[in-house]
Amino acid sequence: MLPQVIIIGRPNVGKSTLFNRLVGKKLALVDDQPGVTRDRRFGDADLLGLKFTIVDTAGWEDLDPETLPGRMRQQTEASLVGADVALFVIDARAGVTPLDEEIARYLRSSRIPIVLMANKAEGRAGDPGLYDAFALGFGEPVAFSAEHGQGLADLFEALRPHI
Ligand code: GDP
Ligand code: MG
Repeated sequence: MLPQVIIIGRPNVGKSTLFNRLVGKKLALVDDQPGVTRDRRFGDADLLGLKFTIVDTAGWEDLDPETLPGRMRQQTEASLVGADVALFVIDARAGVTPLDEEIARYLRSSRIPIVLMANKAEGRAGDPGLYDAFALGFGEPVAFSAEHGQGLADLFEALRPHI
């Protein structure tokens, strides 16, 4: 069985685009509207020869704001079951949002390794977000562009020790 790598992050950070980039096929639905993907999707990823099962998650947007903190913790914990590593994705252009911080809080208490990815970092537009991302406490973020396929070698280096 291949190691399982799960993609976690708030809606619209580029999780499904990352999934498609790593699988190389259009398996996950990507849309300009946040929250188009509904379920978890599994794909066979090949990252510069590193092979693993990649899991795209969705459904964060369906959480009721009233019960958000508890439900989000549940959802995060449920997603991590069976995973060997989590890719925690933020939007480098948007910087770190309160929802990112909330997710980070739950991930910090998990025992699986977390690789922080600052997506949408093509060009220099993501620089402030990259700087902010350090404060989340997961070490140096991998600057990435799922849309343009940039950062693959850095992601490889960050993932390899864990799988
Ligand atoms: P998800 O909700 O986290 O699964 O996000 P999606 O993968 O559906 O992407 C949300 C939006 O961000 C779409 O409009 C994507 O085209 C866009 N997007 C994804 N990756 C990148 C990237 O690397 N750079 C830029 N500029 N936009 C991206
Ligand atoms: Mg999605």
